Amino acid sequence: MPRCLDCRREVLWTVTDAGKRLAVDPEPDETGNTAVYRDGTGTRRSRRPSEELPLMAWEKLYVPHVATCPPRRKTTQKSPAVLPPGVLDLAAYRRRAGGRS
Ligand SMILES: [Zn+2]
Repeated sequence: MPRCLDCRREVLWTVTDAGKRLAVDPEPDETGNTAVYRDGTGTRRSRRPSEELPLMAWEKLYVPHVATCPPRRKTTQKSPAVLPPGVLDLAAYRRRAGGRS
């Protein structure tokens, strides 16, 4: 079984609808958001279930490995560097209000 290069855990490689490779955790998980099935050639295919195309009987839910990979979580969960503009506006408003009193 292939392993993740970042954390060395075992992963399953799937191919998405867009033709991209996506690693998922090897055990199916009902809380996952990725439906995986094997096509006729033995390739694991993955896709996002939707309202129009819900989970099929031959598909199982998996968790994308990026969601559980410890080294990658660190890099993907960084807070945004730029503050939303509303924060600055509020600070300016408070300064004006304070000056009046
Ligand atoms: Zn990993």
